[in-house]
Amino acid sequence: MADRTSTAGKNADEDQLLASITGDLAWEIVQDFSTINRESGSRGEQEAADLIVETLEQKGVPVTVLRPTLLLSVPRRASVTVGGREFHAKTPAFSVSTGESGSAGRLVYLPGAFAQGHDDLFDSGFSSQAPEVAGTVVITEGLPLPQKVLDVESLGARAAIFVNPGERIHEAICTPVWGGPDWQNKDRQPQIPVLAVNRKDGETLIGIAKDQPGSPVEVVTVLEKGLFDCPLPVVEIPAEGAEAADFVLLHGHLDSWHFGVGDNAVGNGAMVELAVRFWERRSQLRRGIRLAWWPGHSPGRYAGSTWYADMFGVELAERCVAQVNCDSPGCRWATAFSGMSWTPEMAAFTKEVIHDVTGLTASGERPPRAGDWSFNNLGVSGTLMLSSTMPEDVRQVKGYYGVGGCGGNIEWHTEADTLEIADRQLLQRDMQVYGAVVWRLAADPVLPMDFRAAAADMQKAVRGYQEAVGERFDLRPVLTVLDELASSLGQLYGAMEELPTQKVNGTLKRLSRLLVRLHFAADEQFRQDPALQVPPMPMLAWAETVAALSPESMDSFYAVNSLMRGRNRAVFELREASRVIDDLLKNDA
Ligand SMILES: [Zn+2]
Repeated sequence: MADRTSTAGKNADEDQLLASITGDLAWEIVQDFSTINRESGSRGEQEAADLIVETLEQKGVPVTVLRPTLLLSVPRRASVTVGGREFHAKTPAFSVSTGESGSAGRLVYLPGAFAQGHDDLFDSGFSSQAPEVAGTVVITEGLPLPQKVLDVESLGARAAIFVNPGERIHEAICTPVWGGPDWQNKDRQPQIPVLAVNRKDGETLIGIAKDQPGSPVEVVTVLEKGLFDCPLPVVEIPAEGAEAADFVLLHGHLDSWHFGVGDNAVGNGAMVELAVRFWERRSQLRRGIRLAWWPGHSPGRYAGSTWYADMFGVELAERCVAQVNCDSPGCRWATAFSGMSWTPEMAAFTKEVIHDVTGLTASGERPPRAGDWSFNNLGVSGTLMLSSTMPEDVRQVKGYYGVGGCGGNIEWHTEADTLEIADRQLLQRDMQVYGAVVWRLAADPVLPMDFRAAAADMQKAVRGYQEAVGERFDLRPVLTVLDELASSLGQLYGAMEELPTQKVNGTLKRLSRLLVRLHFAADEQFRQDPALQVPPMPMLAWAETVAALSPESMDSFYAVNSLMRGRNRAVFELREASRVIDDLLKNDA
């Protein structure tokens, strides 16, 4: 283990836990999984779940396998044919399936720098200069992400081909619907066939589209879409005492694209070994630990974790103190902890743990709406989405473009994500980080969230919105209640050591429900925001919409109404947060 310079949070129990995390058991799982294609809904995924269950039971850890029915869209085959030449292609999950007969159209190039605007910002910025693409097959640069697919759809394209940045075509998913659709969002699934080609073929196709705009093109997308029964293993590690009903959720996706070693056999193995180590030390826990391996991540847009958030929604809202996602730890060359994800109140805590365990300084940011974080609407504080990553200078020397996993290795989401992407030593180190994060959340007397950081982050966002909207809308009422909240939080953290621990933790949990929801979710508590980027305090992001519209327009009238409703929600719920703190301070003064 690396030199531990800080003593905060450090104790003998944790030291023993970390010393017991060798990575040996995790590595067995990684090696086994490296030969199993764990596509969700397939026999491979079931085999992987069986192996997890078998390994845990051999070590005496009880495990339950839930069997959700998930809506999946599994890509099978795709091709693009122009002028008699067929180009290799892939189709992302939830593309429309043309079937083998394909779909014919005319090829038009749409240059690729799309605005990544607010979900409901109807003018995406490129439509005014875009060529006429209605009824055509569009070719454009980038990965087929939901926002881009929505943009192309809104221009009336009949199909879209995306040019990947490199030699390999990355598997992807293009639906903006988070998890299993419900009645309200079922019609938001993509309405056109979507394809991806590699850089070289893409450049050839763009050349054809530029030289002879409207060239005849045929696209084929074959996907298997339907309901699949999938395995979802869960381990519940019980605690004893007054806070035993509460728990920490450690989770990661079980299914993969292809052999998916870096994404996410390493995470699966890490969680198996951690489950065993936590189980051995369960008598030292103040809160429970729940571990879950999700199916339906890749071809279901986090369908497994969303199903769990539905089935156990009330329990999670009442008892889950924090969620920790384990995806792509211990990958090749991933020696840095940068670009980490955490809700603001978890930032200082997570950085401290990473420093204590590795001696390294971590940096992070607001989490993207991704990575099985299906618990934002419930209001659960979270940390870690992806794990360590390769340092920026290493990435540049290698000429790598950005990817969403595998520690920055561009084999991510391809057939090449095999055993060489995993690094056994780095995996052990990252497991110790996960081990210490979860351990402190479950064993420390006082929960580690610092909501002063959340309030400060909200203040920054609201000031930005006020600046954008100017005199057309007054956000000062929100800033006033945020000042009041900051002052209440100051008193809470100042008095914390004298207050009864269990009550403090209850208060922190209630603050988590209120503030995480306000900062990360626009929709209701027991629904899911779409898989599109959620801006800070999303109910106030209408300020940017208002700012972009002419004050005389009807649209401006509508957007101001949305902003007014957002302001009411923000003021009311922020005051509620202050009241929660004041109640505790008053009753225990
Ligand atoms: Zn992943």
